[in-house]
Amino acid sequence: MNDQESGSVDFVRQKVETDNASGKFDGRVVTRFPPEPNGFLHIGHAKSICLNFGIAEEYGGVCHLRMDDTDPTKEDVNFVQAIQDDIDWLGFKWHGEVRYASDYFDQLHDWAVQLITAGKAYVDSQTIEEIRQGRGTLTELGIDSPYRERTVEENLDLFARMRAGEFADGEQVLRAKIDMESKHLIMRDPIMYRIRHAEHYRQGDDWCVYPMYDFTHGQSDSIEGVTHSICTLEFENNRRLYDWYIRELGIYVPEQTEFARLGLTHTVMSKRRLLQLVNDGLMSGWDDPRMPTIRGLRRRGYTPEAIREFCRRIGVTKFDGVTEIALLEHCLRDDLNRRSQRRMAVLKPLKVVIENYPEGEMEELEAINNPEDESAGTRSVPFTRELFIERDDFLEDPPKKFYRLAPGREVRFRYAYFVTCRDVVKDDSGEVIELRCTYDPQTRGGSAPDGRKVKSTIHWVSAEQAVTAEVRLYDHLFLESDPATIAADEEWTRHLNPGSLETLQGCCLERSLGETDVGDRFQFERLGYFCVDDDSTSDRPVFNRTVTLRDQWAKLKKQSPTAG
Ligand code: ATP
Ligand code: MG
Repeated sequence: MNDQESGSVDFVRQKVETDNASGKFDGRVVTRFPPEPNGFLHIGHAKSICLNFGIAEEYGGVCHLRMDDTDPTKEDVNFVQAIQDDIDWLGFKWHGEVRYASDYFDQLHDWAVQLITAGKAYVDSQTIEEIRQGRGTLTELGIDSPYRERTVEENLDLFARMRAGEFADGEQVLRAKIDMESKHLIMRDPIMYRIRHAEHYRQGDDWCVYPMYDFTHGQSDSIEGVTHSICTLEFENNRRLYDWYIRELGIYVPEQTEFARLGLTHTVMSKRRLLQLVNDGLMSGWDDPRMPTIRGLRRRGYTPEAIREFCRRIGVTKFDGVTEIALLEHCLRDDLNRRSQRRMAVLKPLKVVIENYPEGEMEELEAINNPEDESAGTRSVPFTRELFIERDDFLEDPPKKFYRLAPGREVRFRYAYFVTCRDVVKDDSGEVIELRCTYDPQTRGGSAPDGRKVKSTIHWVSAEQAVTAEVRLYDHLFLESDPATIAADEEWTRHLNPGSLETLQGCCLERSLGETDVGDRFQFERLGYFCVDDDSTSDRPVFNRTVTLRDQWAKLKKQSPTAG
């Protein structure tokens, strides 16, 4: 159960428990996740998914998946499929078939007629602009439409003709007759139906009038017998209207509870902004590993377990806030540390020749796959005369705290031998291109019989056995911690982190990485967690860096010097 450590449950679960105790819904628990299929799911949706599906699981209930698909102009069957895939990947199962608000269009239409008949709805022939102006503002009361007092017969006739396609888009709307002087703007005769001569991705051209989201959502929950309709805070206001419709129609009443949406530092979550990043070509797609979408996180190498653990840790509150992306990364590292096999890989190679190692010889050394998991066993890595090490692991003129390789210095090559740097080879420009070294055959396995110590251990890859790969390093999408606050009229994409993607070619991986499948995850020792990208081909493996081993940003903040 949620929040076990503290022994308490969040306020939404508390409500469910209270309702179960009082028998409000006869102990039934029916939740739903209601996405609009107009984009891909993101980490914010994951919070809602974990909450809705989680509650259903924990209290012996069920969770529906319903596409809230009332807008024919933006929705697409591809999004419908992607949403299902993503929920499935996160590890949740919805109850029964996928449901669609658009399947309720007939019922909603009948309900609209019912409200007209009851004198609770009318057809307004004002323009959208006139309607907008008539609605007033927070400080100014609304004014009644000149069409507000149409008779029931006239309204029924006009609505039937709207439905029959006799009017153009925007010529008429159906409005609820509530109160133009309500202090709640949403109650000032909200629009129920509008005309849209557009094809719906599921309903085809059956309809040219479409219900507004607000006239659909509450009733859809009611139709499905949802007990706990859980949504984000911005719908608190709409609740008043949902309740009005449901009351006037005299139908089953679900209980709505609002919680704070998730905001994350260094990224944006608005579908509109994500769409722009994709459409403007600033991202390679919805699954760009820098995107906060489930697709992006997945391709980046995130595990569903890490995302679920993150959602568990952030909990559910009533207060909007922005969560540090570092927490998400922390949950990811925790999970990957437990499950990833270790490998050696050199991203920026520097050649090393072991002068006293026989040419053409090769030996197999044993390396541990995962120190966190003994059952992961060992593998063998080939050691040869020519090797690669990380360029960063050598300095010709090392500062005081640099303990890695330097001229005349001995270090440990992981799982292999002690190696001493004897000489440095440079090209014409003075750049170091090769190190001439010797090894101590007595130190096989990484310790010296005479007990002498070395101050550092570095990773390496056999040059002749190396697998060459492309490696993509990712960093935060925005340098700014709260890019969501950049005003809409500003050129917000200017704030993208120019270093969010660094592509490295010619990286050298240990032999065992020659055969991998898309999505396989590894820890490259000392470098971070990586996974195989779906751009990979057999002769061109591509790895994504999922996350570094430690929070680099925390390090930057502390301004600590880089130690060996
Ligand atoms: P739009 O701006 O298109 O309305 P949306 O983010 O609200 O986008 P929906 O498809 O309507 O997207 O969202 C489905 C569900 O996910 C809703 O119940 C919504 O409250 C929830 N949700 C969306 N974004 C977040 C978020 N950042 N944190 C928590 N829940 C979210
Ligand atoms: Mg929405």
